[in-house]
This record gives sequence, structure tokens and C-alpha cells, in this order.
Amino acid sequence: METKLLSVSQIDEAAEIIKRGGLVAMPTETVYGLAADALNGRAVADIFRAKGRPMDNPLIVHISELSQIKCLVREFPEKARILAERFWPGPLTIILPKSELIPDEVSAGLDTVAVRFPSNETARKLISASCPLAAPSANLSGSPSPTTAKHVMDDMSGRIDAVIDGGECAVGVESTVITLASEPPRLLRPGGITLEQLRDAIGEVVLDDAVMNPLKSGEQAASPGMKYKHYSPKADIILLKGKSEAFVRYVNSHNDGKTAALCYDSETEKLEVPFISIGKEDDYSEQANRLFAALRTADDRDFQVVYAHCPKPEGIGLAVYNRIIRAAGFEVKELEE
Ligand code: AMP
Ligand code: MG
Repeated sequence: METKLLSVSQIDEAAEIIKRGGLVAMPTETVYGLAADALNGRAVADIFRAKGRPMDNPLIVHISELSQIKCLVREFPEKARILAERFWPGPLTIILPKSELIPDEVSAGLDTVAVRFPSNETARKLISASCPLAAPSANLSGSPSPTTAKHVMDDMSGRIDAVIDGGECAVGVESTVITLASEPPRLLRPGGITLEQLRDAIGEVVLDDAVMNPLKSGEQAASPGMKYKHYSPKADIILLKGKSEAFVRYVNSHNDGKTAALCYDSETEKLEVPFISIGKEDDYSEQANRLFAALRTADDRDFQVVYAHCPKPEGIGLAVYNRIIRAAGFEVKELEE
């Protein structure tokens, strides 16, 4: 199949593809999503095939008006109303008990459904011109999420009907996922809406163990996606924790020609190895925005080992930490001062 590259003015053509049961990658404010009609189980099954995604990893349903959620969920509790009012449209996914309309392919057999109302204008126009859309990130399963149309093409060309080129994604990491299907509410995946913002809105929110730590053997993931090794570039990512000086010293003394550093702007001048910076050390939004493109660059340049400076797990930095620790297979090396 030839994958068409569409511009943001070709929404009607993209909507026709969706209505026929096809697959369209669309820009959102988080990452590019691979969209299909959320109520068409056969089209949704094609998403899993195109990505090579395990069938037990459920998808997020995207809406373009709050009223659309009513037929997707069985309950819309007060806390959901508060979160929707404060953070939608935006990078927050809310999990609720699902309605009978949701095909099993979307919820991967669970009794719940994840719903998000994106702020990206192109995504909203596409949903309005078609229907609610099931859309995981538009990458091959296991590789870093795409933040440009080129990233999508690199992974999915020949596997899907079309990609809408909406430029670079603003947030750069996937949405924050919170479940309200159990009490107290639980943060399953950190993203552009922070734990602090969620607690400020609805009070107690528990941080799921799988956000920071690997699952123990035999343990069930509250969010099935968290059990997979995600975001892995081909290079070995080694996460180093410590001050800038210690990071630079360690990396410079481990330079064997196939090595690179994933670092902050302030460290680049002192590094004696090739580097990819993810921005300023205290600008977590910039780091989130640049992380996945940096991991893809590491692949393009064929580095074998990438030493990454461990981000601080606070604010949006928690999302950066969560993604990078998975890319590193949960190993963190503490550096001596
Ligand atoms: P992606 O679509 O690639 O951004 O991944 C969606 C994430 O949301 C994955 O980690 C899923 O496991 C998680 N997710 C989606 N639906 C549910 C659900 N009903 N319950 C728990 N986690 C979910
Ligand atoms: Mg994904």
C-alpha cells in the first residue's frame, strides 16, 4: 500500500479514509497518533497489525467535543467532570468504565476505556469530520513515539493509508494517563499534565508503582502498556545519575568511538564525545519536547552506547524520567561526586 502524505488542508480526504475503515496518522499536541474509527473493531484491529502492537495493550479514544464522551463510558463521575473542565482539551487521558459501544479491540478485553480530548486543531478537525478515533502513537511498537510526520513515515510508510503533516508536536511525550475506574484515582503514565496539577484539581492521586519501577515478576500492570520495554533505540542507553561535572567526567573517560552523550545544553562544551542535547537542565518542557527526536537521532547516527544524564523526576520531568528509564531498561548508575 502506498502511504499518502496529506497537508492539514486535506482533512476531508483523511476523514473519508477513516469512514471507509482505513488508518490515518494525525498530529496531536503530544505525539503523532495512528487513528481509526474507534467504534469499528475491524479497523481498530488493523492499527495493532500496522504497529506490531501486542493485542493486550488497549488504545486511547480521542474526542473533539465533551458531549461525545457520554456514549463511550458508563459513568462520568464528579472528578472526571473537574478534570475535563480544567485540562481538556489537552494532554490528559482519563480512564472510566466503558460503555457497550466500545469494541473489545479498543479496550483489549478490559472493562474500562481511556478517553482524551486533544487540543491540536488538526486532530480536532479530523475527529469532527469523521468520528471518535482510537489512536495509539504512530510508531512501530517498541520504537520511540513520533513527534514529526517524517518520524511516522520512517516507521509506517507502506503500512497505513495516510499521514497528515501537521509539523512538530508541541508537548513531545504521550499524554498523562489517570484512572478514575478505581478509588483513589491513580496516575498510570506521567505526561504534559503533572501529578501536582492533578492533585491540585481533585485531591488524592496515587502514583502507580510502574511509573518509576519495573514490574515485579508475576505482577499485573494497571496499564498494560507499562509492562513493555518502550521507546528503545538500537543503541544501549546507560542512565547516569549525578551532578554535571561527574556526568561529563564519566562520559569523557568512556569514549570508545561508538559512544555518544544525551545531555543538557550546559554540558555540551565540556564533552569530548559526540552529543545530543535535550535542552536546558531546568526546562522540563523543552526536554520532553526533544527527547524522542533525540533517541531517533541516536539511531540515525549508529551510536552503540548512549550515556544519558538522568533527569529530575518532578513536574513534566517525571514524564521524561519515565520514558528514559524504560529506554535504559530501568538501570541507573549512580555517579560518585
Ligand atoms: P499509546 O496509545 O501508545 O499512547 O498508549 C496508551 C497507554 O494507555 C498504554 O500504556 C495503555 O496500556 C494505556 N491504556 C489505554 N487504555 C487503558 C485502560 N482501559 N486501562 C489501563 N490502561 C490503558
Ligand atoms: Mg505508544
